[in-house]
Amino acid sequence: MIHSVRLNESTLSPSEQHGLDLLIDLSRAVPVVRSSPNIVHLEVTGGRKRALTVGECVARGWFIEPADGVVRIDRNALDVVCDIAGASKEQASTKRDRYGRIPSMQSPLAATGKERQAVVSRAAMRLRYAVIQAAGNRLVRFVAPWPNGRRWAAAMTHDLDVVSYWPVFSALRIAELARKRELARVGRVLAAAGRAIGTSPVRDGIQFILRKEDEHGVRSTWFVLCGTPSFSTWRQGDLTYLPEGAQARQILGDIGLHNGEVGLHGSFETLDRGDAFTEQRERLAKLAAGSIAGVRQHFLRLNPATTPTSMAAAGFAYDSSQGFADRNGFRLGVADVVPTWSASDQRATGFDEIPFCWMDRSLSKYGGVEDPAMWVQDAQVLAEECRRVEGLWVGVWHPNLVPALGYPDAPEAFSTLLSSLSEGDPFFGTLADILAWRSARRSVRVRSVGSDEIVEAELPVATRHEVVLEDANGVACATKWLPQ
Ligand SMILES: [Zn+2]
Repeated sequence: MIHSVRLNESTLSPSEQHGLDLLIDLSRAVPVVRSSPNIVHLEVTGGRKRALTVGECVARGWFIEPADGVVRIDRNALDVVCDIAGASKEQASTKRDRYGRIPSMQSPLAATGKERQAVVSRAAMRLRYAVIQAAGNRLVRFVAPWPNGRRWAAAMTHDLDVVSYWPVFSALRIAELARKRELARVGRVLAAAGRAIGTSPVRDGIQFILRKEDEHGVRSTWFVLCGTPSFSTWRQGDLTYLPEGAQARQILGDIGLHNGEVGLHGSFETLDRGDAFTEQRERLAKLAAGSIAGVRQHFLRLNPATTPTSMAAAGFAYDSSQGFADRNGFRLGVADVVPTWSASDQRATGFDEIPFCWMDRSLSKYGGVEDPAMWVQDAQVLAEECRRVEGLWVGVWHPNLVPALGYPDAPEAFSTLLSSLSEGDPFFGTLADILAWRSARRSVRVRSVGSDEIVEAELPVATRHEVVLEDANGVACATKWLPQ
């Protein structure tokens, strides 16, 4: 439990405050409404403004120092937290790739080779340990990280890029494999495609995924394109199916039967015209028979300076486009849900980002690795990092990765991935579930401590899961929850 105070009454800048709020939330330390000598105090130090690098912050433990009853943190490190997790460095970039995206190397983590570690989640972990160290005999409480006693979380997500005209995609993929001289694989794809003539390999693949997920008790999140395809959208690799078509409707029905969450896969148009988000979200809600909470951009076409604001205006609750197209890792330095930040307005937008850290084809498209077993090994390495920080692993698996469309061995690799995630015993949820939990967890405040050391806490944001406060050893503590 911490009470946050500032040294010399210095006022934090909005970005420093945002960095501090992020670290406290990710650390799971519970803010206390009123100060008391029996709790740890958090002091922000450093009157002098100076620009720190990520490297300095990592090497110096993010300038977080425990003392007796107090943890001190340098305000300059808080700006670095906002630069990374609030994407404010990337918002300042004017560079764009051929799809209008901010290139990976504009991320301060990719630029310094640190994207494989959830550096900001680790900074928050350091804050947690510093609070424990500073506490001595003082009372310490943290919110348990995930529901049902789970110590980390995992979410499987799927982008529905292909529904109609599957042989076109087989042909494109065969050309790609031929260019890469993967001739044995070309032979296997041709054979699988031949066998699939007259069947529905895309829908079969989706049903396979849903069945496997059911076996592990996993409910997944599906991002569906919702615009009208044209010759031009086909040519660009944008929209290739009509969401109202019979095949897409069947797939939406399959997802509904398995209690999957449906989100919008924002088409190319949405990056340049924010109103398209509203139109596509309403159109998809009619088809999915329910309101649409989440969005992920097709090709990850997102401008962190403007797109989240348009998404929020269209009624979405979260985005999940923040990740790399060309490598796997933590673009925002967090294995968790974070509020998005507007650098131009210098304020939090009130809209959440659920970044993903792994995508099936990153290694194939950009690294030339065509063996799906290798992609899954990489997913496991990143899942280990998420576990280590008691965070969230979000992976993207494209349901069109089936043998007939060019991906022999992919369904088996997907099974292996699910089994290995399951063995780690995470909390599995759809992204909307995970957002709901994190919003509640983030809202916990302690009002007071009784003489019997029973903490009186409030939970302004309700959740269907039980919220537990625990001590420094992760043992659940008696808590009196005040009515809201
Ligand atoms: Zn896509």
